Amino acid sequence: MVEFKVSEEVKEVIASLERFIKVEVAPLEEKFVKAYQNERYLYDENGEYIKEFQEALKQVRLKSAEAGFFTMFGMPELGGMGDEFGPVAVALIHEALMKKYGHSLLVQEIFPPGLFTGGLTPVLLGLTPELREEVLPKVKSGESMLCFGLSEPDAGSDVWNIKTRAVKEGDHWVINGTKQWITNAPYAEYAIIFAITDPELVSKRKGGITAFLVPFDGETCTNSSVIPILGSVGSRVGIISLEDARVPESHIIGELHDGFGAALHGVDIGRVVMAANCVGAAQWALNQAIEYAKQRETFGVTIDKHQAIQMMLAECAMDIYAGRNMLLHCAWKMENQKELPLKEISMIKAFTTEMAFRVVDRCMQICGGMGLTNEMKFEKVWRWARSMRVPDGTAEIQRRTIARRLLKGDSDFN
Ligand SMILES: Cc1cc2nc3c(=O)[nH]c(=O)nc-3n(C[C@H](O)[C@H](O)[C@H](O)COP(=O)(O)OP(=O)(O)OC[C@H]3O[C@@H](n4cnc5c(N)ncnc54)[C@H](O)[C@@H]3O)c2cc1C
Repeated sequence: MVEFKVSEEVKEVIASLERFIKVEVAPLEEKFVKAYQNERYLYDENGEYIKEFQEALKQVRLKSAEAGFFTMFGMPELGGMGDEFGPVAVALIHEALMKKYGHSLLVQEIFPPGLFTGGLTPVLLGLTPELREEVLPKVKSGESMLCFGLSEPDAGSDVWNIKTRAVKEGDHWVINGTKQWITNAPYAEYAIIFAITDPELVSKRKGGITAFLVPFDGETCTNSSVIPILGSVGSRVGIISLEDARVPESHIIGELHDGFGAALHGVDIGRVVMAANCVGAAQWALNQAIEYAKQRETFGVTIDKHQAIQMMLAECAMDIYAGRNMLLHCAWKMENQKELPLKEISMIKAFTTEMAFRVVDRCMQICGGMGLTNEMKFEKVWRWARSMRVPDGTAEIQRRTIARRLLKGDSDFN
């Protein structure tokens, strides 16, 4: 039986996260009010976060790890508590934070990005015991960050088209190539780099790509620039240049020629996180719009009396209700069924990212000119929601997966 009740345990976690945010995060947010209101003060001239803000983000990670939040969704084999907190808890907890705080960079830092491109990513299961001993404590404590280097200038949706090559020289691999759009590349200590190790297997699309753990050394593996997106003056997304980067054989993650085996570990939970953030953000926006509509007067009445405004509120509510129930049903399936519900995971990724954008956009409209200001914080959430339709599989690639599943006979909705 499907049960969407929030368990007492999850309620307690949400309450303790709220206490944590009040004590550890809110004072930091106050320090950066100016930067939150105007991105000109958040980024340096290269588009990276200013040093003070990087330090603040690190402080949140360290404190979160100390309090046990940072690793709570990680696999037990890596020192996490993922066996206690499955996809339903992941969804409810991420939703609750976004719903209450909106899109706050410092609050978002409590958990690793998407739970799979950083922190205790399941990809780390593929490290040798020696390397695990070196890397894991730093990652677990929030001291060091990882980034996930798969996409390239010529390879986004079509990941088989990567050009980065790794060639064996003695007991080392020498890697050359460029990675693009990599979240946290400007701030990470290590990159998980996917490179071609057997071009023939790649040409048949049957393997031949290997994942490597590559430290940023500032010479052969560098974060060469930040990519500002959607009008921002900086971002978390960067380009990685690899020029004869040498790593020992032991830096292979998982099996040689089977990098995608490692890469796909965790993508599913990443999509649950993204969907939950979208469902939470949409509720945050709707609550703001309702409050505003009750106060703002035009033509002698508050705007909540105008049917046009009521229609927009109702559209938002229907969107949120649909997205939230899809998300929870999918998370429940992930927890209770043996096979991964691939069709549903793609549906929640595509639907909720588009839904959050529609909802935030309507809420901005309800608030008129004020909706466009930084003061109401809609525009930041609007840009964020818009950007979520591209990473971790675009909306079109998700639809392709859904259609493929349907055509293979997976056409029920139980
Ligand atoms: C904010 C952000 C963060 C990111 N973080 C990371 C990261 O940490 N690590 C990483 O490796 N990558 C990351 N990416 C890259 C991301 O995964 C790619 O941008 C994404 O896969 C799309 O690839 P592309 O941009 O090359 O678009 P393309 O693949 O070139 O697609 C262009 C358009 O064609 C459509 N399209 C492509 N193929 C098909 C098809 N078969 N059928 C129908 N339509 C199709 C797409 O949906 C899209 O509309 C990030 C991107 C962004 C924007």
